[in-house]
This record gives sequence, structure tokens and C-alpha cells, in this order.
Amino acid sequence: MNGRQVLVTGGGGFIGSHLTDALLKRGNGVTVLDDFSTGRLENVAHHDGHPRFDLVTGTILNEALVDKLVERVDTVYHLAAAVGVELIVKKPLQSLVTNIRGSEIVFEMAHRYRKKVLITSTSEIYGKNTNGPLKEDEDRILGSPLKSRWSYSTAKAVDEILAYTYWKEKGIPTVIVRLFNTVGPRQTGAYGMVIPRFVQQALRGEPLTVHGTGKQSRCFLHVDDAVRGIMALMDSPSAGEAFNLGSQEEVTIEELARRVIALTGSSSGISHLAYDQAYEEGFEDMARRVPDTAKAKRLVGFVPTMKLDDILESVIDYYKKGAVSTQTS
Ligand code: UDP
Repeated sequence: MNGRQVLVTGGGGFIGSHLTDALLKRGNGVTVLDDFSTGRLENVAHHDGHPRFDLVTGTILNEALVDKLVERVDTVYHLAAAVGVELIVKKPLQSLVTNIRGSEIVFEMAHRYRKKVLITSTSEIYGKNTNGPLKEDEDRILGSPLKSRWSYSTAKAVDEILAYTYWKEKGIPTVIVRLFNTVGPRQTGAYGMVIPRFVQQALRGEPLTVHGTGKQSRCFLHVDDAVRGIMALMDSPSAGEAFNLGSQEEVTIEELARRVIALTGSSSGISHLAYDQAYEEGFEDMARRVPDTAKAKRLVGFVPTMKLDDILESVIDYYKKGAVSTQTS
């Protein structure tokens, strides 16, 4: 086990809260730092009173707070970030500051106290590169930095550069994990993610809003598989390197909508929405995004265990059980 006491920034979020569950189950002491801007208290409320769980409400932009928390742990899982295409289009400046300045503060404190840091990055950094499967050293192909999606991609790339240079120049062990479309229970549709939206729309009998032609494809990874990969990579001796984590089961968004309708037994139909209306004028989507995860497989034996239908069932089950309803448009 790598580090008994850990800090999880963004531990109240979708992925962070599942990571927190797994770390506590394994026996770690976990401090969660979250400002609950997109994270939710109910994601971690079940740990209330747990002797090895500590919840701190605050932002990664608070240097004194991050200093204090990093000092008292052994390792840092840095997941706090502005996420979701819709959120970063709506609040580009706030997203940029959180993702760049926030990460800089986390790395600065990790350097001060010489702690290992794992940072979650995103497949967004590959931009419009539709090659597949994408290896970690593939080129990034981006549009104008004045488009929010590409500024987000750039901010996350800066995070990766920080991780890399803190290792290269300062010797702080860092791990970069690029996540490809992680989904599962607790993910909300409020910031643009497609599966919770489709599932909620289907359960309500509303049309499923497919953006563009629906011919664009993605590969979805269950959050439990993502968490297993994240923990294994943190525990590995790797430093200063990036790893893709994702599935290779590719599905078009149109097919995804059909599958959600079939699995929920919904009477919903499908409606198409132009990107300009869904996001903003001139919005550019990725036509395809498939990860090559051979590197993580080689180092830590990473293999996704859940197929798309099982993933969808887990999300449907979550929303059927009356998960807090969230805004979907
Ligand atoms: N999408 C959609 N309807 C929605 C939300 C998203 O058709 O209500 C599309 C979106 O345009 C993209 C794909 O689904 O092509 C995946 O979107 P998501 O935001 O989940 O992930 P990302 O775009 O970051 O891969």
C-alpha cells in the first residue's frame, strides 16, 4: 500500500467519492478536500463518523489550507478540477483558474513536503486527433484557444506539464492518469455528460437528445475500473509518466441512445440537437476517441472488467433508486 494517510482533492465528486470509498475499504486514512462546486455532500455522507475519514470543505485555491493538508498526509490524489464540457463552456475563466492555478498550488505543496501526487487528466488533451486507439505519446490536435473546449484541453495539458516538470526538475514523484469517458453511479448530467442524461431522459419518458448526427463515438469506462487503475498506478513505482485508462468498446452516441431506451424499456424517442444549440456557436466535437491502454496493462495489469450494458445497468439502477434528480439541460 502506497501511503497510509492520503489526501483526495475533489473527493466529493463523482470519481473522487468512489476513490474515497475504495481507499477507506482498503484501510487508508482519507482526507477529502472539496469545495462542493460540482461535488456533492451526499456522495461522501455515508462516511460521516468513520474514524479514518476526514472531510474538509474548501478550495484548492486556498494555499494555506492545501499547505496544511498536504503536510499531514503521505500521498495526494489530485482530482479537484472543473469538469464537464458544458460547465467549461459556460464558465471558461473559472475553469481555467481552478485547473491551472489550483493544480499549481497542489504541486507546490507536494514539493514543499516531498509527497507523491497522482493527477487525473483527460482524453480531451488529444483534442481532434481521431486516430484510434490513441497511445500516450500521440499528437494533440487542437482548434483555437479562444474556444472553451480547447482552452480546457490546454489547461489540463498544463497540469500534465506541471506534473512532469515537478518530477523532472524537482524529483517529486508524480503520476498522470488520462481518463476516457468514465461513467457510473453518482455521475450527474448537470455538466453535460451523456449517459446520466440519456438515462434520466429515458426514465422520464422524454426524448433522448443526441447532439449532431450521433455518428460520433466514445468508449465508456465504469468508475470502479477507473478507481482500480488509479490506485494501482499510484502504488506502482512509476513517476513522471502518463497513462491512459479507458475501455475499447466503442459505441456511437446514436447507438448508445438506442441501448439506453431498450435497457430501460422506455417509450422515449430520440431527438437531434445541433452542437451550436447544445453548447455554443462554433462548438467542435470529437468524432471519435478510443484509448490504447497497453501501457497501464503492462505496468499494473489494468483491464476493464465491465461491458457497456453492465455499465448502463448500474447507472439505470442508480437513477431508478431515486438518486437526487439533477438538471439535464
Ligand atoms: N451528447 C449528446 N447528448 C447529450 C450530452 C452529450 O449527444 O445530452 C454527446 C456529446 O456531444 C458527445 C458525446 O455525447 O459527442 C459524449 O459527451 P460527454 O460530454 O459525455 O463526453 P465528451 O464529449 O467529453 O467525450
